[in-house]
Amino acid sequence: MERGQGVRTMLLNYINGEYVIAASEEMQTVVNPANEDVVAAITWSNGADCKLAIDAAQAAFKSWSKTNVYQRSAILKKAADIIRANAADYAEHTVSESGKPLAEAKGEWMVAANLFEWFAEEAKRSYGRTIPANRNDKRMMTIWQPMGVVGVITAWNFPVYNPARAWAAALASGCTVVAKGSEFTPLSTFYLVVALNEAGLPAGVLNNLFGDAASIGEEMLANAHVKKISFTGSTRVGKLLMDGASKTNTKLSLELGGNAPVIINHDVDVEAVAKSSVIAKLRNAGQVCIAPQRFFVHEKIYNQFVEVASEAIKNIKVGYGWEAGTQMGPLINQRQQQQVLKLIEDAEQAGATAVKGDIPSATGWFVPPTLLTGVDQHTEAVNMEIFGPVMPVIPFSDKNEVVEWANNTPYGLASYVWTNNINDAFFFSEALEFGMVGINEWAPHGTEAPFGGWKQSGLGHESGSEGLYEYMEKKLVSWGVTGI
Ligand code: NAD
Repeated sequence: MERGQGVRTMLLNYINGEYVIAASEEMQTVVNPANEDVVAAITWSNGADCKLAIDAAQAAFKSWSKTNVYQRSAILKKAADIIRANAADYAEHTVSESGKPLAEAKGEWMVAANLFEWFAEEAKRSYGRTIPANRNDKRMMTIWQPMGVVGVITAWNFPVYNPARAWAAALASGCTVVAKGSEFTPLSTFYLVVALNEAGLPAGVLNNLFGDAASIGEEMLANAHVKKISFTGSTRVGKLLMDGASKTNTKLSLELGGNAPVIINHDVDVEAVAKSSVIAKLRNAGQVCIAPQRFFVHEKIYNQFVEVASEAIKNIKVGYGWEAGTQMGPLINQRQQQQVLKLIEDAEQAGATAVKGDIPSATGWFVPPTLLTGVDQHTEAVNMEIFGPVMPVIPFSDKNEVVEWANNTPYGLASYVWTNNINDAFFFSEALEFGMVGINEWAPHGTEAPFGGWKQSGLGHESGSEGLYEYMEKKLVSWGVTGI
Protein backbone atom coordinates (compact mmCIF):
# COMPACT_ATOMS: atom_id res chain seq x y z
CA MET A 1 0.00 0.00 0.00
CA GLU A 2 1.39 3.42 -0.88
CA ARG A 3 1.19 6.58 1.10
CA GLY A 4 -1.06 9.46 0.10
CA GLN A 5 -3.50 7.45 -1.96
CA GLY A 6 -6.36 9.47 -0.49
CA VAL A 7 -9.81 8.54 0.66
CA ARG A 8 -11.05 5.34 -0.94
CA THR A 9 -14.36 4.96 0.79
CA MET A 10 -16.97 7.21 2.36
CA LEU A 11 -18.94 5.27 4.95
CA LEU A 12 -22.52 6.22 5.73
CA ASN A 13 -24.84 5.48 8.60
CA TYR A 14 -27.27 2.60 8.18
CA ILE A 15 -30.70 3.59 9.43
CA ASN A 16 -33.98 1.84 8.70
CA GLY A 17 -32.37 -0.26 5.98
CA GLU A 18 -30.87 2.74 4.11
CA TYR A 19 -27.30 4.04 3.91
CA VAL A 20 -27.68 7.71 4.88
CA ILE A 21 -25.47 10.71 5.54
CA ALA A 22 -25.48 12.28 9.02
CA ALA A 23 -27.65 15.36 9.54
CA SER A 24 -24.57 17.50 10.24
CA GLU A 25 -23.15 16.61 6.77
CA GLU A 26 -19.75 16.62 8.49
CA MET A 27 -17.25 13.85 7.96
CA GLN A 28 -14.06 12.57 9.52
CA THR A 29 -11.17 10.64 8.04
CA VAL A 30 -9.85 7.24 9.12
CA VAL A 31 -6.11 6.59 9.14
CA ASN A 32 -4.13 3.39 8.60
CA PRO A 33 -2.05 3.16 11.79
CA ALA A 34 0.77 1.33 10.00
CA ASN A 35 1.59 4.04 7.44
CA GLU A 36 -0.67 6.99 8.35
CA ASP A 37 -2.52 6.85 5.01
CA VAL A 38 -6.12 7.99 4.96
CA VAL A 39 -8.14 4.87 4.15
CA ALA A 40 -11.72 6.01 4.54
CA ALA A 41 -13.98 8.84 5.60
CA ILE A 42 -17.01 8.49 7.82
CA THR A 43 -20.14 10.56 8.09
CA TRP A 44 -20.15 12.23 11.53
CA SER A 45 -23.37 11.78 13.47
CA ASN A 46 -24.65 13.12 16.75
CA GLY A 47 -27.61 12.61 19.06
CA ALA A 48 -30.13 13.73 16.40
CA ASP A 49 -29.08 10.90 14.04
CA CYS A 50 -29.12 8.53 16.99
CA LYS A 51 -32.73 9.50 17.72
CA LEU A 52 -33.71 8.66 14.11
CA ALA A 53 -32.01 5.29 14.46
CA ILE A 54 -33.76 4.60 17.77
CA ASP A 55 -37.14 5.50 16.24
CA ALA A 56 -36.46 3.06 13.37
CA ALA A 57 -35.38 0.34 15.82
CA GLN A 58 -38.43 0.91 18.00
CA ALA A 59 -40.77 0.62 14.99
CA ALA A 60 -38.98 -2.54 13.79
CA PHE A 61 -39.09 -4.12 17.25
CA LYS A 62 -42.86 -4.59 16.96
CA SER A 63 -42.51 -7.07 14.11
CA TRP A 64 -38.99 -8.48 14.77
CA SER A 65 -39.90 -9.48 18.32
CA LYS A 66 -42.92 -11.32 16.95
CA THR A 67 -41.01 -13.35 14.36
CA ASN A 68 -40.45 -16.83 15.65
CA VAL A 69 -36.91 -17.76 16.61
CA TYR A 70 -36.52 -20.13 13.65
CA GLN A 71 -37.15 -17.25 11.24
CA ARG A 72 -34.62 -15.03 13.01
CA SER A 73 -32.17 -17.88 13.18
CA ALA A 74 -32.33 -18.49 9.41
CA ILE A 75 -31.32 -14.86 8.69
CA LEU A 76 -28.48 -14.89 11.21
CA LYS A 77 -27.12 -18.19 9.89
CA LYS A 78 -27.20 -16.76 6.37
CA ALA A 79 -25.20 -13.78 7.66
CA ALA A 80 -22.67 -16.25 9.09
CA ASP A 81 -22.37 -17.90 5.65
CA ILE A 82 -21.90 -14.53 3.93
CA ILE A 83 -19.20 -13.54 6.43
CA ARG A 84 -17.33 -16.84 5.92
CA ALA A 85 -17.52 -16.46 2.13
CA ASN A 86 -16.16 -12.90 2.27
CA ALA A 87 -13.83 -13.14 5.26
CA ALA A 88 -10.65 -12.76 3.20
CA ASP A 89 -11.87 -9.49 1.61
CA TYR A 90 -13.39 -8.12 4.79
CA ALA A 91 -10.18 -8.90 6.67
CA GLU A 92 -8.14 -6.70 4.32
CA HIS A 93 -10.31 -3.74 5.32
CA THR A 94 -9.82 -4.61 8.97
CA VAL A 95 -6.05 -4.68 8.47
CA SER A 96 -6.07 -1.29 6.74
CA GLU A 97 -7.75 0.46 9.67
CA SER A 98 -6.39 -1.51 12.65
CA GLY A 99 -2.88 -2.54 11.52
CA LYS A 100 -3.31 -6.06 12.87
CA PRO A 101 -1.78 -9.00 10.95
CA LEU A 102 -4.03 -10.39 8.20
CA ALA A 103 -4.27 -13.85 9.76
CA GLU A 104 -5.51 -12.32 13.05
CA ALA A 105 -8.06 -10.19 11.16
CA LYS A 106 -9.31 -13.15 9.15
CA GLY A 107 -9.58 -15.23 12.31
CA GLU A 108 -11.64 -12.48 13.90
CA TRP A 109 -14.12 -12.51 10.99
CA MET A 110 -14.44 -16.29 11.26
CA VAL A 111 -15.19 -15.99 14.97
CA ALA A 112 -17.82 -13.37 14.15
CA ALA A 113 -19.47 -15.86 11.79
CA ASN A 114 -19.40 -18.46 14.57
CA LEU A 115 -21.07 -16.00 16.94
CA PHE A 116 -24.00 -15.39 14.56
CA GLU A 117 -24.42 -19.10 13.97
CA TRP A 118 -24.13 -20.05 17.63
CA PHE A 119 -26.62 -17.47 18.92
CA ALA A 120 -29.00 -18.33 16.06
CA GLU A 121 -29.06 -21.86 17.48
CA GLU A 122 -28.92 -21.00 21.18
CA ALA A 123 -31.94 -18.68 20.98
CA LYS A 124 -34.03 -21.74 20.04
CA ARG A 125 -33.31 -23.05 23.52
CA SER A 126 -34.38 -20.03 25.59
CA TYR A 127 -36.66 -22.23 27.65
CA GLY A 128 -38.75 -20.96 30.54
CA ARG A 129 -39.85 -23.23 33.38
CA THR A 130 -42.97 -24.26 35.24
CA ILE A 131 -42.98 -23.84 39.00
CA PRO A 132 -45.09 -26.03 41.31
CA ALA A 133 -47.28 -23.67 43.35
CA ASN A 134 -48.12 -24.03 47.05
CA ARG A 135 -51.88 -23.70 46.30
CA ASN A 136 -54.20 -25.91 44.26
CA ASP A 137 -55.82 -22.95 42.48
CA LYS A 138 -52.63 -21.55 41.05
CA ARG A 139 -50.20 -22.42 38.21
CA MET A 140 -46.92 -20.58 37.54
CA MET A 141 -44.48 -20.39 34.66
CA THR A 142 -41.64 -18.16 33.53
CA ILE A 143 -41.07 -17.06 29.95
CA TRP A 144 -38.24 -15.07 28.31
CA GLN A 145 -38.97 -12.05 26.14
CA PRO A 146 -36.68 -9.68 24.22
CA MET A 147 -35.99 -6.39 26.01
CA GLY A 148 -36.61 -4.00 23.12
CA VAL A 149 -34.19 -1.55 21.49
CA VAL A 150 -30.59 -2.11 22.58
CA GLY A 151 -27.75 0.39 22.15
CA VAL A 152 -24.40 -1.25 21.42
CA ILE A 153 -21.20 0.80 21.80
CA THR A 154 -17.91 -0.98 21.08
CA ALA A 155 -14.12 -0.52 21.09
CA TRP A 156 -11.63 -0.63 18.20
CA ASN A 157 -9.32 -3.41 19.44
CA PHE A 158 -11.54 -6.19 18.06
CA PRO A 159 -13.58 -4.16 15.59
CA VAL A 160 -15.47 -7.22 14.27
CA TYR A 161 -15.64 -9.50 17.31
CA ASN A 162 -16.76 -6.83 19.81
CA PRO A 163 -19.88 -5.73 17.90
CA ALA A 164 -20.63 -9.23 16.56
CA ARG A 165 -20.70 -10.66 20.10
CA ALA A 166 -23.41 -8.22 21.21
CA TRP A 167 -25.34 -7.89 17.93
CA ALA A 168 -25.64 -11.66 17.46
CA ALA A 169 -27.09 -12.23 20.93
CA ALA A 170 -29.39 -9.20 20.83
CA LEU A 171 -30.76 -9.93 17.34
CA ALA A 172 -31.21 -13.65 18.04
CA SER A 173 -33.18 -12.86 21.19
CA GLY A 174 -35.59 -10.64 19.21
CA CYS A 175 -34.20 -7.22 20.19
CA THR A 176 -33.45 -4.49 17.68
CA VAL A 177 -30.11 -2.69 17.73
CA VAL A 178 -28.69 0.81 17.41
CA ALA A 179 -24.92 0.41 17.15
CA LYS A 180 -21.96 2.72 17.38
CA GLY A 181 -18.61 1.13 16.66
CA SER A 182 -15.29 2.87 17.14
CA GLU A 183 -14.41 5.87 14.98
CA PHE A 184 -10.95 4.30 14.51
CA THR A 185 -12.25 1.11 12.90
CA PRO A 186 -15.48 1.88 11.01
CA LEU A 187 -14.74 -0.31 7.96
CA SER A 188 -15.11 -3.51 9.98
CA THR A 189 -18.45 -2.45 11.45
CA PHE A 190 -19.57 -1.31 8.01
CA TYR A 191 -18.91 -4.71 6.42
CA LEU A 192 -20.63 -6.44 9.30
CA VAL A 193 -23.69 -4.34 8.44
CA VAL A 194 -23.30 -5.21 4.75
CA ALA A 195 -23.33 -8.94 5.57
CA LEU A 196 -26.46 -8.67 7.74
CA ASN A 197 -28.21 -6.52 5.15
CA GLU A 198 -27.44 -9.08 2.42
CA ALA A 199 -28.70 -11.85 4.67
CA GLY A 200 -32.12 -10.20 4.62
CA LEU A 201 -32.39 -8.52 8.01
CA PRO A 202 -35.57 -6.38 7.83
CA ALA A 203 -35.23 -2.59 7.77
CA GLY A 204 -34.74 -0.98 11.18
CA VAL A 205 -33.76 -4.17 13.00
CA LEU A 206 -30.08 -3.17 12.95
CA ASN A 207 -28.99 0.45 12.68
CA ASN A 208 -25.39 1.63 12.69
CA LEU A 209 -23.95 5.08 13.33
CA PHE A 210 -20.56 6.71 12.95
CA GLY A 211 -19.87 9.85 14.93
CA ASP A 212 -19.62 11.70 18.19
CA ALA A 213 -19.57 9.10 20.97
CA ALA A 214 -20.62 11.34 23.86
CA SER A 215 -23.59 12.84 22.00
CA ILE A 216 -24.76 9.44 20.70
CA GLY A 217 -24.27 7.88 24.15
CA GLU A 218 -26.29 10.65 25.80
CA GLU A 219 -29.20 10.11 23.40
CA MET A 220 -29.09 6.36 24.04
CA LEU A 221 -29.20 6.99 27.79
CA ALA A 222 -31.95 9.62 27.63
CA ASN A 223 -34.24 7.95 25.09
CA ALA A 224 -36.91 5.88 26.84
CA HIS A 225 -37.12 3.43 23.92
CA VAL A 226 -33.60 2.17 24.66
CA LYS A 227 -33.97 -0.58 27.23
CA LYS A 228 -30.32 -1.49 27.53
CA ILE A 229 -26.85 -0.32 26.54
CA SER A 230 -24.21 -2.93 25.88
CA PHE A 231 -20.80 -1.30 26.16
CA THR A 232 -17.35 -2.69 25.39
CA GLY A 233 -14.56 -0.27 26.19
CA SER A 234 -12.65 1.43 28.95
CA THR A 235 -13.55 1.38 32.63
CA ARG A 236 -13.46 5.21 32.47
CA VAL A 237 -16.30 5.44 29.91
CA GLY A 238 -18.12 2.52 31.57
CA LYS A 239 -18.34 4.65 34.73
CA LEU A 240 -19.68 7.61 32.72
CA LEU A 241 -22.43 5.39 31.35
CA MET A 242 -23.23 4.11 34.85
CA ASP A 243 -23.56 7.72 36.04
CA GLY A 244 -25.95 8.49 33.17
CA ALA A 245 -27.91 5.27 33.62
CA SER A 246 -28.47 6.06 37.29
CA LYS A 247 -30.78 8.88 36.15
CA THR A 248 -32.77 6.85 33.63
CA ASN A 249 -32.47 3.30 35.01
CA THR A 250 -31.27 2.12 31.59
CA LYS A 251 -29.90 -1.38 32.01
CA LEU A 252 -26.23 -1.89 31.25
CA SER A 253 -23.89 -4.66 30.17
CA LEU A 254 -20.31 -3.51 30.65
CA GLU A 255 -17.25 -5.27 29.22
CA LEU A 256 -14.39 -3.11 30.48
CA GLY A 257 -10.64 -3.07 30.98
CA GLY A 258 -8.35 -5.62 32.58
CA ASN A 259 -4.90 -6.09 34.09
CA ALA A 260 -4.41 -9.84 33.84
CA PRO A 261 -1.86 -11.54 36.11
CA VAL A 262 0.02 -14.60 34.91
CA ILE A 263 1.37 -16.99 37.55
CA ILE A 264 4.02 -19.38 36.25
CA ASN A 265 4.96 -22.15 38.67
CA HIS A 266 8.39 -23.79 38.79
CA ASP A 267 7.10 -27.18 37.54
CA VAL A 268 6.41 -26.18 33.92
CA ASP A 269 8.34 -26.67 30.67
CA VAL A 270 10.05 -23.28 31.01
CA GLU A 271 11.21 -22.89 27.44
CA ALA A 272 7.81 -23.70 25.93
CA VAL A 273 5.91 -21.47 28.37
CA ALA A 274 8.35 -18.56 27.94
CA LYS A 275 7.98 -18.71 24.15
CA SER A 276 4.20 -18.99 24.22
CA SER A 277 4.06 -16.15 26.80
CA VAL A 278 5.64 -13.77 24.29
CA ILE A 279 3.23 -14.76 21.52
CA ALA A 280 0.23 -14.42 23.86
CA LYS A 281 1.45 -11.06 25.17
CA LEU A 282 1.95 -9.61 21.67
CA ARG A 283 -1.35 -10.73 20.13
CA ASN A 284 -2.93 -7.60 18.61
CA ALA A 285 0.18 -5.72 19.87
CA GLY A 286 -1.03 -6.24 23.43
CA GLN A 287 -4.27 -4.33 22.75
CA VAL A 288 -6.48 -7.03 24.20
CA CYS A 289 -8.70 -6.64 27.25
CA ILE A 290 -7.63 -10.10 28.46
CA ALA A 291 -3.97 -9.59 27.47
CA PRO A 292 -1.61 -11.32 29.89
CA GLN A 293 0.05 -8.39 31.58
CA ARG A 294 1.89 -9.00 34.86
CA PHE A 295 4.07 -12.09 34.55
CA PHE A 296 4.81 -13.51 38.02
CA VAL A 297 7.43 -16.24 37.50
CA HIS A 298 8.63 -18.58 40.25
CA GLU A 299 12.15 -17.60 41.36
CA LYS A 300 13.47 -21.13 40.66
CA ILE A 301 12.88 -20.67 36.91
CA TYR A 302 12.96 -16.86 36.68
CA ASN A 303 16.41 -16.50 35.06
CA GLN A 304 15.77 -19.17 32.44
CA PHE A 305 12.32 -17.74 31.68
CA VAL A 306 13.70 -14.22 31.20
CA GLU A 307 16.52 -15.48 28.98
CA VAL A 308 14.19 -17.43 26.64
CA ALA A 309 11.48 -14.75 26.58
CA SER A 310 14.05 -11.99 25.89
CA GLU A 311 15.40 -13.88 22.91
CA ALA A 312 11.87 -14.54 21.64
CA ILE A 313 10.75 -10.92 22.00
CA LYS A 314 13.78 -9.64 20.07
CA ASN A 315 12.91 -11.96 17.17
CA ILE A 316 9.25 -11.01 16.79
CA LYS A 317 8.57 -9.63 13.31
CA VAL A 318 6.86 -6.27 13.75
CA GLY A 319 5.51 -4.88 10.51
CA TYR A 320 2.64 -4.36 8.13
CA GLY A 321 -0.42 -6.51 8.60
CA TRP A 322 -0.73 -7.20 4.88
CA GLU A 323 2.82 -8.65 4.64
CA ALA A 324 3.31 -12.39 5.10
CA GLY A 325 5.19 -13.29 8.25
CA THR A 326 4.18 -10.21 10.23
CA GLN A 327 3.56 -11.20 13.84
CA MET A 328 2.73 -7.81 15.31
CA GLY A 329 1.43 -4.53 13.88
CA PRO A 330 1.35 -0.95 15.17
CA LEU A 331 -0.81 0.46 17.94
CA ILE A 332 -4.12 1.99 16.93
CA ASN A 333 -3.20 5.68 17.10
CA GLN A 334 -0.55 8.15 18.12
CA ARG A 335 -2.09 8.80 21.53
CA GLN A 336 -1.95 5.12 22.42
CA GLN A 337 1.60 4.87 21.06
CA GLN A 338 2.84 7.84 23.11
CA GLN A 339 1.13 6.55 26.25
CA VAL A 340 2.83 3.15 25.99
CA LEU A 341 6.24 4.64 25.13
CA LYS A 342 5.97 6.87 28.20
CA LEU A 343 5.04 3.93 30.38
CA ILE A 344 8.20 2.10 29.24
CA GLU A 345 10.32 5.21 29.83
CA ASP A 346 8.87 5.69 33.33
CA ALA A 347 9.54 2.05 34.21
CA GLU A 348 13.14 2.38 33.02
CA GLN A 349 13.59 5.56 35.03
CA ALA A 350 12.29 3.73 38.09
CA GLY A 351 15.08 1.16 37.64
CA ALA A 352 13.66 -1.46 35.25
CA THR A 353 15.80 -3.06 32.54
CA ALA A 354 14.21 -3.26 29.09
CA VAL A 355 14.88 -5.73 26.29
CA LYS A 356 13.39 -4.40 23.04
CA GLY A 357 12.62 -5.76 19.59
CA ASP A 358 12.74 -3.78 16.34
CA ILE A 359 10.12 -1.69 14.56
CA PRO A 360 9.98 -1.31 10.77
CA SER A 361 9.63 2.46 10.46
CA ALA A 362 9.32 5.75 12.34
CA THR A 363 6.14 6.35 10.32
CA GLY A 364 3.07 4.67 11.78
CA TRP A 365 2.29 4.10 15.42
CA PHE A 366 4.73 1.27 16.15
CA VAL A 367 6.06 0.44 19.61
CA PRO A 368 8.89 -2.10 20.00
CA PRO A 369 7.94 -5.32 21.81
CA THR A 370 9.49 -4.80 25.24
CA LEU A 371 10.31 -7.12 28.14
CA LEU A 372 10.85 -5.43 31.50
CA THR A 373 12.73 -6.90 34.47
CA GLY A 374 13.53 -5.29 37.80
CA VAL A 375 10.15 -3.57 37.69
CA ASP A 376 8.87 -1.68 40.68
CA GLN A 377 5.34 -3.04 41.33
CA HIS A 378 4.17 0.50 42.06
CA THR A 379 4.85 1.75 38.51
CA GLU A 380 2.16 2.07 35.85
CA ALA A 381 3.66 -0.81 33.86
CA VAL A 382 2.30 -3.07 36.59
CA ASN A 383 -0.69 -1.12 37.94
CA MET A 384 -2.30 0.24 34.79
CA GLU A 385 -3.86 -1.59 31.88
CA ILE A 386 -0.92 -1.30 29.43
CA PHE A 387 -2.74 -2.00 26.15
CA GLY A 388 0.58 -2.34 24.36
CA PRO A 389 3.41 -4.82 23.69
CA VAL A 390 5.04 -4.55 27.11
CA MET A 391 5.81 -7.56 29.29
CA PRO A 392 6.85 -6.94 32.92
CA VAL A 393 8.33 -10.07 34.51
CA ILE A 394 8.47 -10.30 38.31
CA PRO A 395 9.87 -13.17 40.43
CA PHE A 396 7.87 -14.77 43.27
CA SER A 397 8.58 -17.47 45.84
CA ASP A 398 5.42 -17.86 47.92
CA LYS A 399 2.07 -18.86 46.44
CA ASN A 400 -0.04 -16.96 48.99
CA GLU A 401 1.98 -13.80 48.42
CA VAL A 402 1.73 -14.03 44.63
CA VAL A 403 -2.06 -14.42 44.86
CA GLU A 404 -2.14 -11.22 46.92
CA TRP A 405 -0.09 -9.41 44.27
CA ALA A 406 -2.27 -10.81 41.49
CA ASN A 407 -5.50 -9.72 43.19
CA ASN A 408 -4.12 -6.29 44.10
CA THR A 409 -5.87 -4.47 41.26
CA PRO A 410 -9.27 -2.86 40.75
CA TYR A 411 -9.60 -4.99 37.60
CA GLY A 412 -10.94 -8.54 37.54
CA LEU A 413 -11.23 -9.74 33.94
CA ALA A 414 -8.82 -12.54 32.96
CA SER A 415 -5.99 -14.31 34.77
CA TYR A 416 -3.62 -17.12 33.86
CA VAL A 417 -1.88 -19.94 35.69
CA TRP A 418 0.79 -22.29 34.34
CA THR A 419 1.54 -25.32 36.48
CA ASN A 420 1.70 -29.11 36.30
CA ASN A 421 0.71 -29.47 39.95
CA ILE A 422 -3.01 -30.21 40.13
CA ASN A 423 -3.33 -28.99 43.72
CA ASP A 424 -1.71 -25.66 42.86
CA ALA A 425 -3.98 -25.40 39.80
CA PHE A 426 -7.04 -25.72 42.04
CA PHE A 427 -5.57 -23.38 44.66
CA PHE A 428 -4.86 -20.60 42.16
CA SER A 429 -8.06 -20.98 40.14
CA GLU A 430 -10.14 -20.62 43.31
CA ALA A 431 -8.05 -17.84 44.91
CA LEU A 432 -7.87 -15.50 41.91
CA GLU A 433 -10.53 -12.73 41.92
CA PHE A 434 -11.12 -12.68 38.18
CA GLY A 435 -14.02 -13.57 35.90
CA MET A 436 -11.89 -15.91 33.82
CA VAL A 437 -8.91 -18.11 34.72
CA GLY A 438 -6.88 -19.89 32.05
CA ILE A 439 -5.05 -22.92 33.41
CA ASN A 440 -2.23 -23.89 31.05
CA GLU A 441 -3.80 -21.99 28.17
CA TRP A 442 -3.90 -18.46 26.76
CA ALA A 443 -7.51 -18.28 25.54
CA PRO A 444 -9.90 -18.65 28.50
CA HIS A 445 -13.00 -17.82 26.43
CA GLY A 446 -15.18 -19.19 23.65
CA THR A 447 -18.36 -18.44 21.72
CA GLU A 448 -20.19 -20.94 23.92
CA ALA A 449 -18.75 -19.77 27.28
CA PRO A 450 -19.57 -16.75 29.49
CA PHE A 451 -17.14 -13.83 29.14
CA GLY A 452 -17.24 -11.21 31.89
CA GLY A 453 -15.31 -9.29 34.46
CA TRP A 454 -15.36 -9.05 38.25
CA LYS A 455 -14.72 -5.82 40.17
CA GLN A 456 -14.20 -2.80 37.89
CA SER A 457 -13.86 -4.95 34.76
CA GLY A 458 -17.53 -5.15 34.09
CA LEU A 459 -21.13 -5.98 34.68
CA GLY A 460 -22.89 -8.99 33.15
CA HIS A 461 -21.63 -11.40 30.52
CA GLU A 462 -21.31 -11.69 26.77
CA SER A 463 -21.09 -15.00 24.86
CA GLY A 464 -22.48 -18.31 26.03
CA SER A 465 -26.09 -18.73 27.07
CA GLU A 466 -25.48 -16.00 29.70
CA GLY A 467 -24.81 -13.62 26.80
CA LEU A 468 -28.23 -14.35 25.30
CA TYR A 469 -30.13 -13.70 28.52
CA GLU A 470 -28.44 -10.28 28.84
CA TYR A 471 -30.90 -9.19 26.12
CA MET A 472 -34.03 -10.90 27.44
CA GLU A 473 -36.33 -10.22 30.36
CA LYS A 474 -37.71 -13.00 32.51
CA LYS A 475 -41.45 -12.82 33.09
CA LEU A 476 -43.48 -14.74 35.67
CA VAL A 477 -46.95 -15.67 34.40
CA SER A 478 -49.12 -16.74 37.31
CA TRP A 479 -52.52 -18.34 36.63
CA GLY A 480 -55.53 -18.59 38.88
CA VAL A 481 -57.43 -21.79 38.03
CA THR A 482 -60.69 -23.25 39.21
CA GLY A 483 -62.37 -26.62 38.92
CA ILE A 484 -59.23 -28.67 38.28
P1 NAD B 1 -13.13 3.73 25.04
O1 NAD B 1 -13.89 3.53 26.30
O2 NAD B 1 -12.38 4.97 24.86
O3 NAD B 1 -14.11 3.62 23.78
C1 NAD B 1 -14.99 2.53 23.59
C2 NAD B 1 -16.20 3.00 22.80
O4 NAD B 1 -16.88 3.96 23.59
C3 NAD B 1 -15.85 3.67 21.48
O5 NAD B 1 -16.84 3.34 20.52
C4 NAD B 1 -15.93 5.14 21.83
O6 NAD B 1 -16.23 5.96 20.73
C5 NAD B 1 -17.09 5.14 22.84
N1 NAD B 1 -17.12 6.28 23.77
C6 NAD B 1 -16.11 7.10 24.14
N2 NAD B 1 -16.58 8.04 24.99
C7 NAD B 1 -17.91 7.81 25.16
C8 NAD B 1 -18.96 8.45 25.91
N3 NAD B 1 -18.72 9.54 26.66
N4 NAD B 1 -20.21 7.93 25.84
C9 NAD B 1 -20.47 6.84 25.09
N5 NAD B 1 -19.52 6.20 24.36
C10 NAD B 1 -18.25 6.67 24.40
O7 NAD B 1 -12.19 2.45 24.90
P2 NAD B 1 -11.17 2.13 23.76
O8 NAD B 1 -9.91 2.87 24.01
O9 NAD B 1 -11.83 2.27 22.44
O10 NAD B 1 -10.94 0.55 24.00
C11 NAD B 1 -10.01 0.05 24.86
C12 NAD B 1 -10.65 -0.42 26.16
O11 NAD B 1 -11.68 -1.35 25.89
C13 NAD B 1 -9.65 -1.15 27.04
O12 NAD B 1 -9.81 -0.72 28.36
C14 NAD B 1 -10.07 -2.61 26.90
O13 NAD B 1 -9.70 -3.42 27.98
C15 NAD B 1 -11.54 -2.48 26.75
N6 NAD B 1 -12.11 -3.68 26.14
C16 NAD B 1 -12.81 -4.55 26.92
C17 NAD B 1 -13.32 -5.73 26.37
C18 NAD B 1 -14.08 -6.72 27.21
O14 NAD B 1 -14.75 -7.56 26.66
N7 NAD B 1 -14.01 -6.63 28.54
C19 NAD B 1 -13.13 -6.01 25.02
C20 NAD B 1 -12.41 -5.09 24.25
C21 NAD B 1 -11.90 -3.92 24.82
